[in-house]
Amino acid sequence: MNTIDKYSEYVNTSMLAGIVPVVFDRGEGAVVFGEDGGKHIDCFAGISVTSVGHSNPEVIEAAKAQLDKYIHCCSYVYYSKPMADLAEKLAQITPGRLKKSFFANSGAEAMEGAMRMVKTYTGKRELIALQTSFHGRTYATLSITGNLARKKRAGPYMPGVSFAPAPYCYRCAFNLKPETCGMRCAEYVEDIIRFDTSGDVAAFIAEPVLGEGGIIPPPEPYFKKVKEILDRYNILLLIDEVQTGIARTGKMFAIEHYGVEPDVMAVAKGIANGFPLSAFIAPDEIADTFQPGEHLTTFGGNPVSCAASLATINFLERERIIDKVVEQEKWLKERLESIKKKYPIIGDVRGRGLMIGVELVKDSAKTPAAAEANAVRNSCLEKGLLIGVGGILTNVLRIQPPLVITDDQLDEAAAIIEKSLGEL
Ligand code: PLP
Repeated sequence: MNTIDKYSEYVNTSMLAGIVPVVFDRGEGAVVFGEDGGKHIDCFAGISVTSVGHSNPEVIEAAKAQLDKYIHCCSYVYYSKPMADLAEKLAQITPGRLKKSFFANSGAEAMEGAMRMVKTYTGKRELIALQTSFHGRTYATLSITGNLARKKRAGPYMPGVSFAPAPYCYRCAFNLKPETCGMRCAEYVEDIIRFDTSGDVAAFIAEPVLGEGGIIPPPEPYFKKVKEILDRYNILLLIDEVQTGIARTGKMFAIEHYGVEPDVMAVAKGIANGFPLSAFIAPDEIADTFQPGEHLTTFGGNPVSCAASLATINFLERERIIDKVVEQEKWLKERLESIKKKYPIIGDVRGRGLMIGVELVKDSAKTPAAAEANAVRNSCLEKGLLIGVGGILTNVLRIQPPLVITDDQLDEAAAIIEKSLGEL
C-alpha cells in the first residue's frame, strides 16, 4: 500500500477532508519536494508554521544537539535549560509587561490554559469572543470559536461565552464603510457586555488577524477602542497569536500593529518552525495566579522543541526577516491588486505581512465563490504552487509562505495565481 492508500485505510476520516494529493518527501526553504519527484513553491507553510523555512539548517542543528543530550525530562519535574532560555527570550520579545510563560504543545492547549488563567485571576467566569474566529478544536476552544462549520455536531458548548461581530470590513455586520463607521463593531462590544452577559466577564478574546476566518485584519483603531471599553469594565484582553505570532505579519506579534498591550497572549505554530510547541504568556501578577501544580502538562516545553524555537527566533532576528516581510507584503499586495483589476472574481485583497487573503466572489453582491477558490488552488497545485483555501465562506485564497521565501519565488507564485485565475 502506498501512503495515500494507507491514509484511506488507517487514518481517521476527519483528517482527509481537505487533503491535497502531495506526499511530502523533503523541503528546503520555501520549496517542497513530493515523493513523486514533484517540486512546489510552498505558500502555505503547513498552515503558517515553517516560518524560517523547511529544513532550516540552524533549527536542525539546535534540535539535533538537544536530541543528543536528552529528549524529555518533564520540564516541571526537573529543570530544563532550553525551556528556561526560551521563557527568557519570550519575555524579551513579547509586548509590554508580558513576562512569564506556560509551555504546552498546541495552539488549542495554549488557549485552554490561557482561558483558565484569566478566569482564575479575575475570579470571573464569562468570556467574549469574536464571530468568525477560530481558536482550536478542544471543547473549550471550540466554545469560543465563532464558526458553525467547525462546531457542528458536537454541541452544546461551554456556557458563558458571548460573541461580538467580527471586524470584517469587506462584509461589515452593520453594512457600514470603514471610513465613516466610527468603529461600530468595536463599540458594539460594550453592548454585548451590557446586554448579553451577567457582568461577570473575565476576558475578551481575539486573533489580531482572523486567520481561519479568512485572513481578516481588523481596522487600525479597532483594538484601541475595544481596550478602552474593556478597561472600563475591568475585563482582560486575551490575544490569540497562534497563527499571527513570530514575525508572520511584519511585526514580531500582530497586536503590535494596533498599539495596545494584551494582558495575556497565546503563541504556537511558527514559534518552533514545525516542532510541536505553544505557550501562553502573562505579566507576573496574572501568571502568578496559578498556585504551584495548578496547571501542568507532561510534554509541555519539550526541550527539543524549545531549542528549535530559540534557533527559530534567533534566525528571524539576525536575518532581519521582519524587514523583508514588510517589503514583500507591499510588493505582493500591489501585484495582487493589479491582478484584481483584471479579474473581477477577486473581491478583496487583504492581510498583513506574509499572511495575505484573496477573497473570491461571483458578483457585485459578493456571492462567495467557494468552488472557484478550490479550483484555483487545484490549478496552482498542478502548476507547482501550494496555497491554502479558507475563510468562514470557504472562498479565500490563503498565501502564507515560509517567511524566508525569496522575491523570485514570490514573483513566480503570483504569476501562477494569475494564470490559474485566468484559466477559470
Ligand atoms: N488559534 C488560532 C488563531 C489558530 O489559527 C489555530 C489553528 O489554526 C489554533 C488556535 C489551534 O491551534 P492547534 O491546531 O495547534 O491546536
